[in-house]
Amino acid sequence: MESNFESRILLCASCNEEFAFTVEAQDYFAQKGLVDDPQMCKSCYTESKRGKRSQSAEQNSSHGEVDNNRIASNAGNSINGNSINGNSFNGNSGSNGKNVK
Ligand SMILES: [Zn+2]
Repeated sequence: MESNFESRILLCASCNEEFAFTVEAQDYFAQKGLVDDPQMCKSCYTESKRGKRSQSAEQNSSHGEVDNNRIASNAGNSINGNSINGNSFNGNSGSNGKNVK
């Protein structure tokens, strides 16, 4: 057990802002068994957990960097594979031939 917890400054991979990896946060990470440093600041982390449904929030902090967009789209990839394909456009003609009497 190491007890050298102290606040550290990390760089957020999402918004590229420096943020404090606080003792509380380190303790929280340790309790969850996470050994890696957080990749995102607390607000971005919270945002990414919420933002899986609403994606508009990420664009508020746009720095216009391509890498940011790639990271963001990897995190919340719910546009493809949703409900556009495979719905009810095909296969609608089943009842045509049977009801003719
Ligand atoms: Zn951030």
